[in-house]
Amino acid sequence: MTTAHRLTFDVQLSDHARTPEERERVLANPGFGRHFTDHMIVIEWTEGRGWHDARLVPYQPLTLDPATSVFHYGQELFEGLKAYRQANGSIVMFRPYANAARFNSSARRMAMPELPEDVFVESLELLVQTDKEWVPTTEGHSLYLRPFMIATEVGLGVNHPSKSYKYIVIASPAASYFAGGIKPVTVWLSKEYTRAAPGGTGFAKCGGNYGAAFVAQQQAVENGCDQVVWLDAFEHRWVEEMGGMNLFFVFGDRLVTPALTGTLLPGVTRDSLLKLAGDLGYLAEEGKISVDLWRAGCESGELTEVFACGTAAVITPVGAVKDETGGWTIGDGTPGPVTMRLREELVGIQYGTRPDTRDWVHKVC
Ligand SMILES: *Cc1c(COP(=O)(O)O)cnc(C)c1O
Repeated sequence: MTTAHRLTFDVQLSDHARTPEERERVLANPGFGRHFTDHMIVIEWTEGRGWHDARLVPYQPLTLDPATSVFHYGQELFEGLKAYRQANGSIVMFRPYANAARFNSSARRMAMPELPEDVFVESLELLVQTDKEWVPTTEGHSLYLRPFMIATEVGLGVNHPSKSYKYIVIASPAASYFAGGIKPVTVWLSKEYTRAAPGGTGFAKCGGNYGAAFVAQQQAVENGCDQVVWLDAFEHRWVEEMGGMNLFFVFGDRLVTPALTGTLLPGVTRDSLLKLAGDLGYLAEEGKISVDLWRAGCESGELTEVFACGTAAVITPVGAVKDETGGWTIGDGTPGPVTMRLREELVGIQYGTRPDTRDWVHKVC
């Protein structure tokens, strides 16, 4: 039993946990988001009572009434962060309080209850400690943590938010995104579809943003691209994000990332790189990048590198751009030195091979 605020986690260990051999088979080739550990966290919220019944239980299916609100109205949000096994053997998470704060910012937008940050972080610690054997030892691998919250009120009334919710955390061992080396992606500029508009949910990490995005991602693939790049809703001119990642534009030793206007997801990786870039002697700032500037900068050679960043893949170089009128390459289309330097530095902090001067690393065990 462990306590956070006035919440006590009831611990029910699995009696059918995978054997060490079964686990090692999964960890030899985990992929991403395909396999899950032996346990999960569940906490209930009910109107009038608040958070209650916090527990760690064996990983298991949920049983929900077909009229449960989340299935019909999509009142849902999620987070994503990782636990890393460091060079000295300890297991850490990267900036979990940043994810806790964003979880609550998403919750406010979705009219869902906030979870005290300490409870959020403790729930992750408890799951990671319990399933610590699932944190991979292979270089570049990690344990991906997926906290999420769903509306559980039963009924089809739409005039009010749900009166009950479930907070759940599951964990999944993850291979490096770049098992075969770092490959730059080709991106499709989506002029037909919009991810987010002012006043909408662009800054919230809610499932609906993804549900509405797959069609544009499919269109990117149909056009021979790997990922979709989202532009602003009014003019389809200002660059916002790439798929589920934030973007950085490198002009020699000056880095620019689109400012957080409310339609972009405020990435923890983005925020970390803005700070790290300064430490490494680059000028890093938030600004506005238009498609025209992107193209002209590549043509003149002033814009030397573009990369995307997010928890899952850390940093992904962008090599080429396409839209209905054609396309262009960025530099010579290969990963640039600033991209690789920042990647190495951030990964080094996460895995404990570089000094953690900002206390970003949160030790679990
Ligand atoms: C999660 C996410 C990101 C990246 O956020 P990180 O905290 O860096 O993982 C960027 N864009 C979108 C749309 C996202 O959902």
